[in-house]
Amino acid sequence: MRALALFSGGLDSLLAMKLIIEQGIEVIALHFETGFGGAKDAYEKQENLRKLTDKIGAKLEIVDVRDEYIQKVLFDPKYGYGKNFNPCIDCHAHMVRVAKALLEKLDAKFIISGEVLGQRPMSQRMDALKIVSEFSDADGLILRPLSAKLLPPTIPETEGWVDREKLLDISGRSRERQMELAKKWGIEDYPSPSGGCLLTDEYFSEKIRDFIKYDTFEVEDIPILKVGRHFRLPDGAKLVIARNKEENEKIAAIENPKFVKISLPGIVGPLSLLSKSAGKKDRELAASLALTYSKADKSKEHEVLVGDEKITARPLPSKEDAKQYFLQV
Ligand code: SF4
Repeated sequence: MRALALFSGGLDSLLAMKLIIEQGIEVIALHFETGFGGAKDAYEKQENLRKLTDKIGAKLEIVDVRDEYIQKVLFDPKYGYGKNFNPCIDCHAHMVRVAKALLEKLDAKFIISGEVLGQRPMSQRMDALKIVSEFSDADGLILRPLSAKLLPPTIPETEGWVDREKLLDISGRSRERQMELAKKWGIEDYPSPSGGCLLTDEYFSEKIRDFIKYDTFEVEDIPILKVGRHFRLPDGAKLVIARNKEENEKIAAIENPKFVKISLPGIVGPLSLLSKSAGKKDRELAASLALTYSKADKSKEHEVLVGDEKITARPLPSKEDAKQYFLQV
């Protein structure tokens, strides 16, 4: 018997899997890459996930859903958003649908989810759990081992594939029982419960809202929203200025046809990205703003490279003067 698990990386999904593995069932942990996880490097993140699944004896599979997530989930969620740009119910339902579609291919019989009844405001209320099951068209096949005893029996339970008596009845926001189980099974170093999803972050959400007011949004635009100080210039161009050396490296690595890079030859300072469609006034202002965050002499004009174009500009008198162009939350 084999099951597929929705694996966010968080403790609850690990415990849910472990409870099923303890019943002698093989578990494949599906981690869905939406593109909106925290800023960690992808390799490092995968290695951390692998350590965790190795620890409990599950096999890790990374499922890249970035494109379809933007096409089908992010911008028109049937069940709306949480507090920020997080379409949690549709997101969960989408992951369950993808997992269901993989059941046959991976020769598995049912799906495990680490959801706990009443733990989070939006996606884990009883009605939300029911909606996810029905909307994903996987009703009866999703087992939530941590809260199973508080929920109607699912197919894996009624068919006797799993022993319902060995499942749990956890509900609510307290993490006490989960911490006890983690201790018992030696599970350590797991990420925060939300898995660091940037869609729950207020400023990140504002950056998406702003982006889609002016442009279409695609997978390759995600890294731009994860880096730098964000500005919207008077004629509509977007400007992103690196805040440190690490962000300079990230911006240097971004190749996006909608943006050009701004560099400051011979000056210690940030790399920036500017909308390729920026008009003359915005290009000149962007050059001044980039200089404002550099070590350039404020009393002089300097040459700035905006894409292939050389622009002569002067830094603004102070960083305070730049704030009026910040993207506001
Ligand atoms: S927090 Fe993010 S990844 Fe988790 S369900 Fe909500 S939108 Fe999806």
